[in-house]
Amino acid sequence: MAKIIDGKAISKQIREEIAAETAEFAKNSGFKPGLAVIIVGEDPASQVYVRNKRKACDEVGFYSESYELPAETTQEELETLVDKLNNDDKIHGILVQLPLPKHLDETRVLLKINPEKDVDAFHPYNVGKIMIGDYSFLPCTPAGVMALIERSEIDVCGKKCVVIGRSNIVGKPMAMLLLHSHGTVTICHSRTQNLASICKEADILVAAIGKADFVGADMIKEGAVVIDVGMNRKADGKLTGDVNFAEAEPLASYITPVPGGVGPMTITMLMQNTLTAAKNKVK
Ligand code: NAP
Repeated sequence: MAKIIDGKAISKQIREEIAAETAEFAKNSGFKPGLAVIIVGEDPASQVYVRNKRKACDEVGFYSESYELPAETTQEELETLVDKLNNDDKIHGILVQLPLPKHLDETRVLLKINPEKDVDAFHPYNVGKIMIGDYSFLPCTPAGVMALIERSEIDVCGKKCVVIGRSNIVGKPMAMLLLHSHGTVTICHSRTQNLASICKEADILVAAIGKADFVGADMIKEGAVVIDVGMNRKADGKLTGDVNFAEAEPLASYITPVPGGVGPMTITMLMQNTLTAAKNKVK
């Protein structure tokens, strides 16, 4: 029987720590960390994420602004807003909610964000810093996974780590962070041959695929740590991960559930990055 890594409880604990640090920081600096969130269009899932981010800011004592722009916003209008926020001293972190409507060039918008305010860590400058292991910000979801691993006192050093997924926002940075923690890392993707046998060797298996219940018993070594990043909606509307929990749980030593595992950590790490950005500003 695996130990369940309770992302909700760990997230709550970290948010309390951030709130205490924020109060101390505000007392000493005379200002609060500030986060601006921009959303373009009316994607319901994105609207929920933005609302949750605003709520999290209130909870930890940040200043926050949100910009809900119409779907027909032009590239120039969006970039002008990013520029304005780059020059706004109240704002230490800028987050542009992705995906953007198709007529907008995401890469150009992300490049516009001042890397010092890039709390999602998607700017190539910050991506490069992560590669060399000298970073201020980590992308929120992989950072959340590392926090879950660390707070569960799981030692990565020397372990065989397999990451399924090579996206820029999850898979690749996830692999890099495990490598920085001295794991021996393999990255798998849709063209990987013998996927199940590679996964079956993993001491730490991270699934970031986007396919419900994809990882089954045939892919999990007995005693493995299984981290499920996946967030998939089933036909009945229920949220489910990339790991078949019923099959994995009897084999794993630790496992993250969905919901209640990695999910709650992502916004918490955004709060952490915003506090870091505000502290860097004072430095
Ligand atoms: P993505 O950009 O679609 O990447 C998915 C990756 O999975 C790709 O690298 C793809 O390989 C690989 N893949 C797809 N089918 C595969 C297969 N049959 N065998 C092996 N690999 C396969 O997705 P993402 O943005 O990284 O997100 C992954 C999952 O995490 C999604 O469920 C997403 O909702 C979830 N997520 C959760 C959070 C959170 O806060 N918990 C945050 C972000 C994402 P190729 O590169 O070869 O196509």
